[in-house]
Amino acid sequence: MPDLLQEIDEWGPEKVVCVSDARTGMRGVLVIDNTARGTGKGGTRMSPTVTVGEIARLARVMTWKWAAVDLFHGGAKAGIFADPASPDKERIVRAFARRLADQIPASYVAGLDMGMTEQDAAIIQDELGDRGAAVGVPETLGGVPYDQLGVTGHGVAEAAEAALVRQGRSIAGARVAVQGFGAVGAAAARRLHELGAQLVALSTIDGSVHDPDGLDVPKWLEARAEFGDACVAKASAAQRVPRGEELLVDCDVLIPAAGQDVIDESVAAKIRAGLVVEGANLPTTPAARELLAEREITVVPDFIANAGGAIAAGFAMDARHSPFRPEPTAILAEVAERTRNNTVLVLDTADRSGLLPHEAALDLAKQRVRTAMELRGRLPRPA
Ligand code: NAD
Repeated sequence: MPDLLQEIDEWGPEKVVCVSDARTGMRGVLVIDNTARGTGKGGTRMSPTVTVGEIARLARVMTWKWAAVDLFHGGAKAGIFADPASPDKERIVRAFARRLADQIPASYVAGLDMGMTEQDAAIIQDELGDRGAAVGVPETLGGVPYDQLGVTGHGVAEAAEAALVRQGRSIAGARVAVQGFGAVGAAAARRLHELGAQLVALSTIDGSVHDPDGLDVPKWLEARAEFGDACVAKASAAQRVPRGEELLVDCDVLIPAAGQDVIDESVAAKIRAGLVVEGANLPTTPAARELLAEREITVVPDFIANAGGAIAAGFAMDARHSPFRPEPTAILAEVAERTRNNTVLVLDTADRSGLLPHEAALDLAKQRVRTAMELRGRLPRPA
């Protein structure tokens, strides 16, 4: 595994802070990648497998995501090395916030990612005594209810529709498979259902479900609300399929919405969807992206498709200091518009230039970050 110091490049990271607390066993990390366009902002991930390298990669995705949606924040991400189901979760989250009190919110505003809930964001605000410390708190505390509104999944579904329409196809009746029926995956399924698509496969860490005749989305959403990841146990024996099978089923649109690097070359060779819309961050390896392009499978890149949370964070950052609640319909409309426009822009640019969609999206984002670095005098002086 390469040392993180070897990974530092012209963009960042600018700062990596590791924290720990012997009493609770908390171990965490904050990575501030690039702040040329604003203060570090990105979700906080809790997982028993999280690594510093993983958080650094995710912080870099945030740098590109903020630039791609043209909002003025810097790329950052934090990680807590713990089981989100731990009975000690609150104490761990509090210890994490306390240890980073000199960074939050001055250099980093916390938010949600895998394993962290709206209540955890509220606990970070409470521990630091500052409404500015985190976004993603429940609506009853004046926050933007990301999970309840399903902002990121909403944008992922809108990106899927925009990409299909661009191909002259309709979302109505399109068959969709979703890996990860969590905050992003379930909200994407909900919006796709509203748009007339048919969900044929879903999964959680507890198992995978497939029904070529279509799954009853409202029932599955209810099951998820009641049983969480264990909802997959409610599937009939005929619907249960081996883990990972949801990525390979016959469908029109595949939405990976769980972990990173799940689509490697071996999976990419077998994907049957014509369109992959990346709900998760970094779900596709670079070699798999090449292979998907060779197979003429279109990919809407992660930081274009899943920017809904970032766009909503734009509203949430304001809400931290305002007694007024942001209007949910305004948030969802903004998420849909920016995500759809960026999807079409990136796919058109890729087609015109012969670049992969990821490369086209990166070019757009890098140009904006480089300009900001130049204007702030952060680039090396010419010799
Ligand atoms: P979550 O914890 O709410 O849900 C994750 C889901 O994936 C859970 O159902 C979990 O059981 C499932 N899962 C995990 N590993 C799996 C596996 N190997 N196979 C099948 N299912 C698996 O997390 P989330 O907030 O929905 O985040 C999902 C992804 O989306 C992450 O990559 C995250 O970085 C990215 N993302 C999230 C947001 C957001 O607003 N929450 C925004 C942008 C990107």
